[in-house]
Amino acid sequence: MDDERKTCRIRHETARRRTLTVAEKVQLTPAYLSIRFTCADFGDFSSASPDDHIKLFMPGAPAGGGKPPMRDYTPRLFDEASGTFVIDFALHEDPGPATAWAIAAKPGDTVEIGGPRGSVVISDAFAAYWLIGDESALPAIQRRLEEWPDKQIHVLAAVSGAEEELALQLGANHRVQWVHRPAHEAASSTGLLAALEASFRADSETFVWIAAEAGVTKDLREAVLATGHPLSQIKASGYWTWGQADTTAKFE
Ligand SMILES: Cc1cc2nc3c(=O)[nH]c(=O)nc-3n(C[C@H](O)[C@H](O)[C@H](O)COP(=O)(O)OP(=O)(O)OC[C@H]3O[C@@H](n4cnc5c(N)ncnc54)[C@H](O)[C@@H]3O)c2cc1C
Repeated sequence: MDDERKTCRIRHETARRRTLTVAEKVQLTPAYLSIRFTCADFGDFSSASPDDHIKLFMPGAPAGGGKPPMRDYTPRLFDEASGTFVIDFALHEDPGPATAWAIAAKPGDTVEIGGPRGSVVISDAFAAYWLIGDESALPAIQRRLEEWPDKQIHVLAAVSGAEEELALQLGANHRVQWVHRPAHEAASSTGLLAALEASFRADSETFVWIAAEAGVTKDLREAVLATGHPLSQIKASGYWTWGQADTTAKFE
């Protein structure tokens, strides 16, 4: 592979925590909540890739003792000049501490974040990109579309119905294909696989990014590889795992 097409890993020395203060809650869809925070402490904050994640530390000690829970979220938008930081929350069934906190949060509430500790930067030298995911991946997908307004990007995304299709900011070369499946079938890869198999062809000029429930990610990655698409041109992550709290999965 050409050097300019290599995926590059960057480490940030920004492990320290920052405090975010809730400024505004915007219900983007019935199950999608965007929270705009103010942050007076951007300092050395750095997020080099749209699929970076921060750790969100839930306030307060847990009832049974131990460390406060933390969960991974995408820095959807951040602007040091205006002190703005946005995190978008997919409101799922069986909400854990992060989702419960977001639902209950009110202006003035504070929460701490840490990171991103690193970034995996996908080369911008490919002719085309496929971004495939579920609700948890939409913040990273939206950020990617906004950061690459002129690139050829095909988004394939699963949500529970037409009312959950987010209004994405699309450039002239961006295409979006929505797949609908009920929320209780979020761990089923059937719809995404059918859409992928109908329209994706292996291509040495294309990079494929996948983020969804871990089992769905695994199935999609295998389906992409089965087309003969090069492994080095796939990045696949399990953003959560059906029936398990605080679980992510990496596929190298
Ligand atoms: C790199 C990265 C970036 C991420 N960015 C975002 C983001 O910007 N926005 C976002 O909403 N999520 C994002 N996620 C996913 C998020 O971290 C998980 O969904 C997390 O489990 C939510 O925490 P919780 O406290 O709500 O639920 P947990 O306590 O972790 O889990 C409780 C229950 O809910 C289920 N569950 C968890 N997430 C989902 C889901 N999305 N849909 C259906 N059921 C679920 C679990 O299987 C479990 O049964 C990201 C994950 C990663 C790895």
